[in-house]
Amino acid sequence: MSDIIQLLPDHVANQIAAGEVVQRPASVVKELLENAIDAGATSITLLIKDAGKTLIQVIDDGIGMSNTDARLSFERHATSKIKDAQDLFNLNTKGFRGEALASIAAIAHVELKTKQEHQELGTQLKIEGSKVISQDVISTAKGTSIAVKNLFFNIPARRNFLKSDTVETRHIIDEFQRLVLAHPSITFLLHHNGNEVYHLKESNLRKRVVAVFGAKMNEKLVPIDETTDLISVSGFVAKPTFAKKKRGEQFFFVNNRFIKSSYLHHAVNNAFEGLLENGYHPTYFLYLTVPPNSIDINIHPTKTEIKFDNEKAIYAILRATVKHSLGQYNVAPVLDFNRDSTLDTPYEFKKKPTATTPKITVDPNFNPFKTEQQSYTSSPKKSTQHWEALYTEIDTIEPIEQKQLFNQAQETETGKTFQIQKKYLLSSIKSGMVLIHQSLAHQRVLYEAFLESITVNEAMSQQLLFPVHISFATTDIEMLQSIQSELENTGFQFESISEEAVVVKGIPTSISESQISLILEQLLDDLKLEVPASSFSQFDVMAKSFAKSLAIKTGTSLNTKEQETLVHDLFSCKEPAISPFGKATFKTLTLKEIDSIFNSH
Ligand code: ADP
Ligand code: MG
Repeated sequence: MSDIIQLLPDHVANQIAAGEVVQRPASVVKELLENAIDAGATSITLLIKDAGKTLIQVIDDGIGMSNTDARLSFERHATSKIKDAQDLFNLNTKGFRGEALASIAAIAHVELKTKQEHQELGTQLKIEGSKVISQDVISTAKGTSIAVKNLFFNIPARRNFLKSDTVETRHIIDEFQRLVLAHPSITFLLHHNGNEVYHLKESNLRKRVVAVFGAKMNEKLVPIDETTDLISVSGFVAKPTFAKKKRGEQFFFVNNRFIKSSYLHHAVNNAFEGLLENGYHPTYFLYLTVPPNSIDINIHPTKTEIKFDNEKAIYAILRATVKHSLGQYNVAPVLDFNRDSTLDTPYEFKKKPTATTPKITVDPNFNPFKTEQQSYTSSPKKSTQHWEALYTEIDTIEPIEQKQLFNQAQETETGKTFQIQKKYLLSSIKSGMVLIHQSLAHQRVLYEAFLESITVNEAMSQQLLFPVHISFATTDIEMLQSIQSELENTGFQFESISEEAVVVKGIPTSISESQISLILEQLLDDLKLEVPASSFSQFDVMAKSFAKSLAIKTGTSLNTKEQETLVHDLFSCKEPAISPFGKATFKTLTLKEIDSIFNSH
């Protein structure tokens, strides 16, 4: 048999390598930004169109490239950052593999413009699918601009595999945040579809964190600073009172490189022990500096994991350092009340009387039943196909069974109800009795009401006497803008949603003023976590989020009227048996079942 092995042509090899380096637009963003940082830029601009699917462009004012280097930079394994294997153990650049540009050029249309400081004229290079289209001498600014267009144009499977613009944009912003937080002394600009998303001026770390996550972050931060022979740790953790239900802002950087480490995460969690309620997650921005030769980052081109030589010691130091800082800044929740809160309160809140400062706990006087009658009965449930189609999670119970449960439970409308342990409602029905979980039941009621008001009818709104100003991070503002009309359907009214603040002038009748900030924050958290792929699922996430935030909790005592209203509202729902999160809302016990309890004893 004749020989069958042959070497792959370069462009094919590059395309294969690209599969590892470039998974999505965000991967390109990361590689280009890293190159700009490695080139010593002091100012970096990122321009994105259509979540990076149409354009990703990075413009820097770094060292630029010579004519020859410009051409070489697109060859595989072409790098200026290491010369031999020994250099791998002493890295102080982001890149070193020399693969990124070659990979990107294999699967996109790339246009490079670059000029070194001493050069009169620069170089322009166009490459499409690894093929050099043109190379020209041009006049251009010092530094480098790389525009990547039509990503995956020659790999349709990859292109089709990309998620919605919302999801891909989220990934891009994640990568962007990781880099800007590691390099506060560099000015960064991010524009998406012509809109400015971030303009981060050169600053210190604290200001950078606040610029990225919004003015409210400032009062939450506790500084961390410790140096030992092995490692130095700096950065911030957020006070435990500001912990989040969802894992949100958690960042580790090692030698200014973002990494993920469940081991180190565990150390930080451990330091918060006793300070956080179950299910809450700390927020942290921690910067570890170690000798470059004591870590191994050379695991995989896109992986963010890392190996430390002295893992155990680093764990112990990290845990102790965070614990110490939390102690030093008196951030145990009780002590926090003594703090002079005006010292570092964002401006927006200073103008408001203390009584309306957003609370972490739900208003204990809030009674959802006061207004419920109004909001439910005044908006009769019209069913439309869209509205019905939104129910996706309830297939677990057979329709017939549901119908039966429903009919049985309907009978309770005339029955008397009792509340048990401020948690359950008990009612007798013809066939036996029904036990209702009050909080889960109310979640279902609110969920359907909100879903309906978002998709079908607008809900009622109550005007606020004084508009409430709330500050958010720029990305959060963008997200709120994108769902403004849905929020307005639920009863929110905005005077404006712009830059760093949201001005609310009206709210749904089912919420109180003190809950606004909490509800919107919870909603943003939920939306980020779910990354809804369609507007339908986005409505669903919204309705679920509101239902969760607003449902009466276990421990709330309800008078007879309130109990009856809840039972009535639950069984007027389309899917009364299941909470929006898939839990049973009630259970019936037939007379037979009750009998059997006693017969067996
Ligand atoms: P690596 O970053 O691993 O070296 P890349 O493919 O990302 O590999 O880049 C190849 C080379 O191109 C770099 O080593 C650098 O010399 C040059 N280069 C890339 N981007 C820039 C830039 N923005 N400014 C100056 N030089 C650059
Ligand atoms: Mg690189």
